[in-house]
Amino acid sequence: MSVFDGIVVGNGIASHVTLYYLSLRLLCLENKNSLPKRLLILESPVNKPCSLYSTCHAGTINARDGISPLGDMIKQSYVKLCEFVKEKNPLGVYEGSLYKSYDISDEVRPELSKEKLNLPLESDNIFYGHQANHHFFDPQIFLDWTKSEYIKNFNNLNITVNYKKAHITNIILDGENYNLTSGVDQFKASSILLTSGAELFSIWTKEGWNYPKLTPREGDYLLLKNIDLGDESFSIMIVSTNVIYRHFRKELLIGGTTNMPNEYLDKPNNKELRFYHSEFKHFYPTLPDYDKFEIKRGARVRGPKRYPYCGELNKGLFAMVGLYKNGFTFPFLMAPPLVEEMIQKNFLK
Ligand SMILES: Cc1cc2nc3c(=O)[nH]c(=O)nc-3n(C[C@H](O)[C@H](O)[C@H](O)COP(=O)(O)OP(=O)(O)OC[C@H]3O[C@@H](n4cnc5c(N)ncnc54)[C@H](O)[C@@H]3O)c2cc1C
Repeated sequence: MSVFDGIVVGNGIASHVTLYYLSLRLLCLENKNSLPKRLLILESPVNKPCSLYSTCHAGTINARDGISPLGDMIKQSYVKLCEFVKEKNPLGVYEGSLYKSYDISDEVRPELSKEKLNLPLESDNIFYGHQANHHFFDPQIFLDWTKSEYIKNFNNLNITVNYKKAHITNIILDGENYNLTSGVDQFKASSILLTSGAELFSIWTKEGWNYPKLTPREGDYLLLKNIDLGDESFSIMIVSTNVIYRHFRKELLIGGTTNMPNEYLDKPNNKELRFYHSEFKHFYPTLPDYDKFEIKRGARVRGPKRYPYCGELNKGLFAMVGLYKNGFTFPFLMAPPLVEEMIQKNFLK
């Protein structure tokens, strides 16, 4: 049994952003004498982090104020992301434009200008709704940057951060501690943070634990490397999907789909992807053929009514899960108050 002061299950964006804010908050504590020494971050060798298999762009073109609390949350978290980028200047986040391929009523979105699409596409005569200040992530670079920042901060606090690949299959409360089981390995800590994405820890929900019901929704998207569409990243909303050009990697992404549970388990959702591909070809006739694209898949997870869950499940057991389609904005809104709650409730003490 390996014993730690705190264990974080998961190594995707929820984990990185929360640890980043936690490290900053601990640096500001007046009394640092009682801080723990050992933190463990677990990652499953089986479940790939969705954060690295995602189209991961962020904006608010579909979120309007005052319509629903979820819409407000999407908007507020985007504002937090923008503030974070402005203040911290992280690696792996780029600003670009979002366009809509169909008309939007001025009454609905007066802030959107209708301008000619300034892209090397062949649909010269079409005008589009346009929103600047859209954000595009290079997820690996961003996660690496965040990790190097929090490790630096934890090192300054003499807290060591350990990493291990282990697929947790059970969590048991044993007195004040939680025992996490993975095959023959067992890990123990009194403070746990679950950022385990689509892993359905809800099936272990113990009586009294507040774990939400989560529904996985895998998604496929197309990826084409080595394509040059200019020096600015952009996204075009076409029908119900997005085309994303990442200028920093010279990549084009189309998608993703939202597969129902148990759908397309062994094969990609080719039908829907082909449809999106053909729709974009309509705007961009020299688009390479469908079979030139790689197909990627990520597993996102949806909470009840699309709300994420963020808070304490049981004494010392915290979670940030159910980010669904907003994984690259929600953590910037939710992590600071979660960290505050964790510190108030003696996480890592
Ligand atoms: C096709 C597609 C497109 C998307 N596009 C966007 C987009 O444009 N914008 C946006 O904001 N969001 C988008 N998303 C959603 C976004 O990618 C996710 O919400 C986000 O990545 C989830 O992050 P996470 O940290 O919660 O989970 P993950 O990144 O999945 O990380 C979970 C971590 O938990 C670990 N783990 C899981 N199970 C176990 C276990 N049993 N034991 C130990 N460790 C475990 C995993 O190994 C991993 O490290 C998209 C998703 C998909 C699939």
